[in-house]
Amino acid sequence: MVLSFYQARDQILASVAPLGAEDTLLLDAAGRAVAENIVAPLPLPAFDNSAMDGYALRAADCFSGAVLPLAGYLPAGGGLNCRVEPGTAVKIMTGAPIPPGADAVVPFEETEEAPEQVTMLGTVKPGAHIRWQGEDISPGDRIIEAGTVLRPAEISLLASMDLPKVRVGRRVRVAILSTGDELRELGAQGAEGTIVNSNSWALAAAVRELGGVPVMLGIARDSKENLYEKMSQGLEADVLITSAGVSAGDRDYVREVLDDLGVEQHFWKVNIKPGKPTAFGLKGKVPVFSLPGNPVSAMMTFEEFVRPALLKMMGHRTVLKPLFKAKLQEPISKKSGRLQLMRVAVEFDAQGEMTICSSGDQNTGILRTLVNAQGVALLAAEKDYFAAGEEVELHLLGASTALGS
Ligand code: AMP
Ligand code: MG
Repeated sequence: MVLSFYQARDQILASVAPLGAEDTLLLDAAGRAVAENIVAPLPLPAFDNSAMDGYALRAADCFSGAVLPLAGYLPAGGGLNCRVEPGTAVKIMTGAPIPPGADAVVPFEETEEAPEQVTMLGTVKPGAHIRWQGEDISPGDRIIEAGTVLRPAEISLLASMDLPKVRVGRRVRVAILSTGDELRELGAQGAEGTIVNSNSWALAAAVRELGGVPVMLGIARDSKENLYEKMSQGLEADVLITSAGVSAGDRDYVREVLDDLGVEQHFWKVNIKPGKPTAFGLKGKVPVFSLPGNPVSAMMTFEEFVRPALLKMMGHRTVLKPLFKAKLQEPISKKSGRLQLMRVAVEFDAQGEMTICSSGDQNTGILRTLVNAQGVALLAAEKDYFAAGEEVELHLLGASTALGS
């Protein structure tokens, strides 16, 4: 039986589990998933402080024409060396602690300063321009949920909590093996009829983009012995990805060798285009992805099947990309019976709605169409025609995709 796109992805995700966690310095934790719920040890702000440069005073003392003697000066970072007695004001800088006795801050712009005293130009509400201790975060608040990816905002929060280290999901080590007699290494002299092994680089870049560690195994030749040796080496990593050699060609030995290595094979084909000859198996806990050799197919099946698995293994809570709906700029015909992963250019129309069109020739031999794509549309298996203006589902490609307008 050939699995549907969704069945295949579900099977893969059900077969992998988080690898475990490690304590990491804050900066190295960026982009990774926290391994446990984080509870605030401290309040934020840490103390009541001024949101403006101005004067701390009692709101009751502030009205147009009120002249208040200056009873002190509080720069940011200085101690609390004064208090506000009724009828006085203290000059205060942004971030300085609110002195006892004050219940508001009046910004400079709303005053007239003279030596030793300040004149108010209007009134102020109690609490104005004060950032209260704990108004953002109170001690004991759950501030970050396990599985959340640490963006700069979360890193800021952890740093504000004075936490120099954080426990995050371990980076997945991914062995990458290209197979084929026609391949040569990047920069190596090539005999006639050979091509550069680009898949290893593409897949390694994709692994790294997710926070994983690629382990480059190079090229295995189309012989059982060589495949056996390299693939058994690959099984020492957390994940093994091979490309090519899984179709029905004369020398497509990958499947046989996986058998010899005791890899339990889950499926060998998925009902998608491109990427039909995509295989998945498990050796103990090590998932083995055998991707098609065609570079476009290898990258697209990585994106759809390997990416979510690696994220799950690294402890991410959200492993699938959000799906958007977008209108087709042009009609599309396809064969019914197979889900098509269409490389698309994404633009916004005059109404600001997301629209898509094919990013080029959808032949899998055309790498440029993937380079020009900002998204992948999922064209339902059962349909053979989509009208212009019809909405289809898509997800975006890349970490920071620039969309057209
Ligand atoms: P195969 O799956 O072995 O039939 O390969 C399909 C196509 O992908 C062939 O044209 C191969 O030459 C090409 N191909 C296979 N492996 C790689 C690779 N590592 N880098 C670039 N192209 C490849
Ligand atoms: Mg081949």
